[in-house]
Amino acid sequence: MIRINNLTKIYKSKRRSRCKALDNINLTLPNKGLVFVLGKSGSGKSTLLNLIGGLDNITKGSIIVDGNNISYFNEKEFCDYRNTHIGFIFQDYHLIDELTVYENIVLSLNLRKIEDRGLVRNALKRVDLAGYEDRYPGELSGGERQRVAIARAIVKKPRIILADEPTGNLDNVTSTAIIKLLKALSNECLILIVSHNTNDAYNYADRIIELSKGKIIRDNSKNIMYPESVVYNQNTLFYPKDTSLNDNDINVINYNLSNNNIKQVVKLDNKYTPTLSQVIRKEKVEIVHKNLSFYNEMILTFKFLKNKIVKIFTSSFMVSAIMIILALSQTIISFDANKVLTEELKGLGLNSVYVEKHVNDDEREALGQYYYYEVNDEDKEKLKNNGVDMDLVYPVYSYTLPITLNHQYSGFSYNNFTSKLFLSETRGTMIVDEEFFIEKIGYLEYLALSDDIRNSGVYITDFVADSILLLNHAYNGLTYEDIIGEYSIYSTNGKRGYINGIIKTDYKEKHGDFLNEVISSKNTSISKYYHDQDFVSLVNDIYDYLGFTFSLNKNFVEDIKNNPDNTITWHHKFYINDIEVNSPAYGFVSYDENNVYKLKENEVVMSFTIYNDIFNTNYTSSTVSLFKPHKISVKQYRTTDYERENMLLSFEVTIKRIVGTSATFFCEKTLYDKIHRNSIYEKGFYYNSNENVNLITEFCKDDKFHLKSYIIEGVETMVKAVNIFVPIFELIAIILCVGIVFILVSFSMRMIQDKLHDIGILKALGTQNKTIVIIFGLQIFLIAILTIIMSTIGYYYFVGIANDVLVASLKEFATTRVVLEFNFLVFKHSIVYMDIILILTLSILSLFIPMLKIRKIKPVKIIKTKE
Ligand code: ADP
Ligand code: MG
Repeated sequence: MIRINNLTKIYKSKRRSRCKALDNINLTLPNKGLVFVLGKSGSGKSTLLNLIGGLDNITKGSIIVDGNNISYFNEKEFCDYRNTHIGFIFQDYHLIDELTVYENIVLSLNLRKIEDRGLVRNALKRVDLAGYEDRYPGELSGGERQRVAIARAIVKKPRIILADEPTGNLDNVTSTAIIKLLKALSNECLILIVSHNTNDAYNYADRIIELSKGKIIRDNSKNIMYPESVVYNQNTLFYPKDTSLNDNDINVINYNLSNNNIKQVVKLDNKYTPTLSQVIRKEKVEIVHKNLSFYNEMILTFKFLKNKIVKIFTSSFMVSAIMIILALSQTIISFDANKVLTEELKGLGLNSVYVEKHVNDDEREALGQYYYYEVNDEDKEKLKNNGVDMDLVYPVYSYTLPITLNHQYSGFSYNNFTSKLFLSETRGTMIVDEEFFIEKIGYLEYLALSDDIRNSGVYITDFVADSILLLNHAYNGLTYEDIIGEYSIYSTNGKRGYINGIIKTDYKEKHGDFLNEVISSKNTSISKYYHDQDFVSLVNDIYDYLGFTFSLNKNFVEDIKNNPDNTITWHHKFYINDIEVNSPAYGFVSYDENNVYKLKENEVVMSFTIYNDIFNTNYTSSTVSLFKPHKISVKQYRTTDYERENMLLSFEVTIKRIVGTSATFFCEKTLYDKIHRNSIYEKGFYYNSNENVNLITEFCKDDKFHLKSYIIEGVETMVKAVNIFVPIFELIAIILCVGIVFILVSFSMRMIQDKLHDIGILKALGTQNKTIVIIFGLQIFLIAILTIIMSTIGYYYFVGIANDVLVASLKEFATTRVVLEFNFLVFKHSIVYMDIILILTLSILSLFIPMLKIRKIKPVKIIKTKE
């Protein structure tokens, strides 16, 4: 039973300001019967049906259906109401084209979770379409389609069937058949038909309601046994005795009076009209919440995907392509420099890192040679604070042996290239224990040992010994035994070091072939070998252990300071009377060994040319006798101490004589020792591990510290190159994510646009927004699944290619650095997992806009009748 009280519907549109489609309607409709709603076009018939059907919101008044006040239902409640109470039949049938007759009808049952499939067959039988189950709407005539629509409406046994011009598109014969069918059905439920066919109305209606300009102008019942309001029938106006006339009753009376219709007015006194509250209590039929099962949602998803395979695959393909680029970008972004460094270094056989503290390349260029800084406590503190395990750090001292000073006489081509393989001097001295060699080489074996092992002496490797023999003409024909003990390759300057012994290494087995090739080819071009594993491997071994001098004496530094004549390296500046002495450090001081000049501790003999330079005089060898001794002040600094802050030594001496010599001055041993004491210092460090090398490379960002490894340089070059791309790829990743959302959104918007009609029908049938969102969401989910599969395969395949391209292009452009076969970009499971989560998240995100669109779709708009 429907009670409509003072129902007004006003449409507010922007162009035409207001339109009163229904104007204060009062109406009571019974539970059963066939009610025709007549009226001219625009009189409010459809509006009335739509409001009763819960397709639109009322403006004023109330509609109470089976005791449920539907007037202010929200959308969800309207859906449930339509689902349980209402069966719609539209002029345009509004079947879902993708579904068969059976599926169209069973949808009504599925929405109410009714499992009885026999009901579909019964419904089809009633509309005389048995056997049409598997046909598609496109294969049916108009009348047949309308009968399917009727079957769909009746199958769920609704309380009310609303049929808005159901025969509007049908020929007369078919129309009559449909009306007859509805008449038969009206024994079970209330059927409201909007029609223009007055004949049909008079022939079949139990009641005829006529509207004009939104008001009821006629309400005729054939059977007026139980009028509940004023009823006009056959020139007689009936009204119930105990009811006071409401506005609508008065309207009906006035309308009929003005048209001279009324011949007789009958006041019925045999009828008791129940009050509204009694109606509600008696007749309340609960509206229950029912919805499609997930299984049926999936089925609908796939039905709607029919003929969309190309679209699905195109979208999946595009998203996959983006996902692959995204995964590659992520691989670059998540590029773990430390891990790559460590793995590559291990793979390439690097076991340690050698770092020196010296001027940078530009300064070196300007100064003409490397000047070393001293590693100080602050540096070590910083190293430790950076997380470096200090147990793995060995100091490397400036004590070195010269090797190639005579190469110009040896006949060996010592050039830019070979200087990387054969040192001009040893790398420095490390203080180690015997374990060090056993770890590096696997054994500790001496090829020659001095009879007189000294604390200030060093051990060299067979590689260094062979280099000395090869590069120095002076040693031609000599053996290892000849170069141990006192060591000097200087022809004039006497003793320069002491070699305790020669350590056997594996260098000949490892690098002999390559070295022989290099020696015989006399190649001068180094760049040819930059990307060569043999070259890199040899250079690495030189920096790992071949090229150093070693001491097994923990007090080596002290012992050297006490035996300064063993000291070889000079990296000091001297100022005489605050004027920098512009002479090579080697020649600065010469120890007056036999005290031939009879010097005291505070006396020196100076070179007259240097004297002339400093003091602006013109002494010649013939006028040196005119020189008058005088005092000078001498200051000694580390060469790299440009600010002259850390003075090493300051002393005053008297120049006793000036003579012709290349040394700046000769001095007596005590002073000589004082000066030389300062020439051993820590010039770098050795990190004896290939783990966490990044901590060292990080530390070396300080421009005074320089990594001495070709592999690290190569890897670092790559790391830097890759790192440059990181922020770019971060940006790209964000853009790509936006792109994915864009594709997914536009995909689902297109799908929704294509299916607007079906969505309208689904909604009219009582499908909740949530369900429709799921149906379209599942399509996106399907794309997501396809994308995950395609992009994972694509990522796996392309990451190798991307790596090869990266390495190849770096090889091409980074010709000054070593570049080997690195695995910078590798397939990462974590990225795959991350991207699965990402694509699913983006899919859900992409649903947001379509969701709003779905919510906005009003079934009223879709099912609008053609006038
Ligand atoms: P009928 O079905 O009797 O032809 P309707 O109920 O469709 O009439 O329309 C009643 C009145 O409301 C008409 O004047 C129509 O123009 C107006 N109307 C119907 N729907 C809308 C709408 N969505 N917005 C504005 N005016 C509307
Ligand atoms: Mg209409």
